[in-house]
Amino acid sequence: MLISEVLQRKGNAVATVVPDATLTDVVAALAQYGVGALVVSSDGHTVEGIISERDVVRALASHDRDVVDQTAAEFMTRDVVTCSESATIEQLMTEMTERRFRHVPVTAEGSLIGIVSIGDVVNARVRNLETETRQLTNYISGY
Ligand code: AMP
Repeated sequence: MLISEVLQRKGNAVATVVPDATLTDVVAALAQYGVGALVVSSDGHTVEGIISERDVVRALASHDRDVVDQTAAEFMTRDVVTCSESATIEQLMTEMTERRFRHVPVTAEGSLIGIVSIGDVVNARVRNLETETRQLTNYISGY
């Protein structure tokens, strides 16, 4: 199954923050959008970094209380792994498992067009397996 099919189902919305947003802003946005990670982007199109709830927890664990006034740019991951719409769910599953992250932004010609989370990957896999099971059951039953 292709990532383009996943985006068709879930849409192209991506929650982003600007690099100089504070950690307070980041936490508010994570809560508001109900997501686990935000793409860091100055213009909403170019991926400059990614900041997830893990980065926030790490920041809170290792800094003073005034850490909440520091910026997303200071705690984001800069070397972001992205994928294209033509990548497969299986490829993303392997990437997420081996590299131990749960979000992959999707880009086309350098511009952000969506994001896939581990939840989306699991949902897509389950739907696929259900379809396969139904087809096999129908085949065996002679339908
Ligand atoms: P997550 O599992 O997505 O909450 O992220 C765990 C860690 O990996 C955090 O430090 C994130 O900033 C980082 N991370 C998340 N997604 C990506 C990605 N696509 N490429 C590189 N790093 C990532």
